[in-house]
Amino acid sequence: MSTELKLLIDGKLVDGAGTFDVVNPATGQAFTQAPRADEAQLNQAVAAARAAFPAWSALDVEERAAKIEALAAALESRTAEFASLLTQEQGKPLDQATYEVIGCTKILRAFRDRRLETKVLRDENGNKIIEHRTPLGVCGLITPWNFPLILLMNKLGPALITGNTVVVKPAPTTPLTSLLFGQLAADILPAGVLNVIADQNDLGGVLTSHPDVDKIAFTGSTGTGKKVMASAAALVKRVTLELGGNDAAIVLDDVDPKAAAAKVYGGAMTNAGQICVAIKRAYVHSSIYDEFCDEIANLANAAIVDDGSKQGTTIGPIQNKMQYDKVVSLIEDAATRGKVIAGGKPLDRDGYFVPPTIVRDITDDAPLVREEQFGPVLPVLSYDDINDVVNRANDSEFGLGGTVWGKDLDRATDVAKRINTGTVWINQYLAIDPNIPFRGAKQSGMGAELGEAGLNEYTQAHVVNAVAFA
Ligand code: NAD
Repeated sequence: MSTELKLLIDGKLVDGAGTFDVVNPATGQAFTQAPRADEAQLNQAVAAARAAFPAWSALDVEERAAKIEALAAALESRTAEFASLLTQEQGKPLDQATYEVIGCTKILRAFRDRRLETKVLRDENGNKIIEHRTPLGVCGLITPWNFPLILLMNKLGPALITGNTVVVKPAPTTPLTSLLFGQLAADILPAGVLNVIADQNDLGGVLTSHPDVDKIAFTGSTGTGKKVMASAAALVKRVTLELGGNDAAIVLDDVDPKAAAAKVYGGAMTNAGQICVAIKRAYVHSSIYDEFCDEIANLANAAIVDDGSKQGTTIGPIQNKMQYDKVVSLIEDAATRGKVIAGGKPLDRDGYFVPPTIVRDITDDAPLVREEQFGPVLPVLSYDDINDVVNRANDSEFGLGGTVWGKDLDRATDVAKRINTGTVWINQYLAIDPNIPFRGAKQSGMGAELGEAGLNEYTQAHVVNAVAFA
């Protein structure tokens, strides 16, 4: 087994100090190796990014925009290759992988077109105050394994257009698409502007505490996010944290339960439930609860659970063994606290396959309801009173997203406004848009990605306050 992909350090594609296996979750077997950086290579990457920063940040923004367009165009022309590799390393069905790669080009182009605004805060009586924005320097971009490529673009687009240079560190179980992107970028960006290293979960802390890294943009679990924040505190480093969630779906009593079940099913099971803003618990009004449960169980039973590279697969494997074990144990526990009406047992085959599982009549204190399952299993709970269900939805340390499903939009909006999260979607799910900021409340994160707010996260606001010399 050989490694074909290389690290990208200072514009050069180089071997790692070592290598490590990358497992295809559909087989549970290693299918290739990735180059593994050591601390010295990480330091080289940071030094290269530091050295590249003055020239890159001094370029005219239109020149940086042209480079971002070149990245987007190159990625677009290799969509099939990236999607196939993404399915192999991550497990998701090929159509969802293709969708992720296409989404990446859209995000890059959205940031290609963004410009920093200089604001005049005051211009009166001889006093002119302007606020402009300057790049931060070297940014460490740390990504998780559920959407390895798109979550990188959410960070890379704004970092590059605003004039920062970056060191990228993907998750150890999904390093390949980020390394392939590094290879693509090596022909486009000046040396040192983008560096890509891979590790075995040992270099994240080194990057976050590195004295020459000015900002960390992190997506991952809340537990690791806390470590990132603590590590960044030593130098008051800027951080953006996009962390875990336990999004509630509230299904109001005026919807067709079958239609709502189909939507909630999609929101819960896409990418085998491994989405920060997946629907992770559903609260359904008691008047339509039975019908809703029957329909969502039918949908789960009709899923085609298989290798994501096979045509027709609707649910791929769970991405890694550790997550698979966690999901299986949550399901085993949930079976003692509620009624499993679809799925319930991992598939008896190689790979990390768990069929979509629906659990009804489960108690609010069950771990499946309280924790982030991050897998294809959904608890469905019933409610009678709207105030009660709002309290139950808000009774969580997480505050990432949520959905409300209702025909009466005013009523649904009133409910949505009472949900304490960064985003609530009404009658839709996963409506993430490159131009709309996305952020977590409570322990789901800090700072924003996407939109103007996501752009500003890569800058320092700087006020110049002038009066005439007297
Ligand atoms: P994780 O926290 O285990 O790992 C994320 C990244 O952090 C990996 O690259 C890992 O190598 C790195 N890392 C590990 N230890 C580190 C340390 N001490 N310092 C710095 N970096 C370190 O998360 P995961 O299991 O890969 O991803 C799943 C989690 O990500 C879920 O909780 C999910 O909700 C969350 N997530 C959040 C969003 C969002 O936008 N809010 C999006 C996707 C996923």
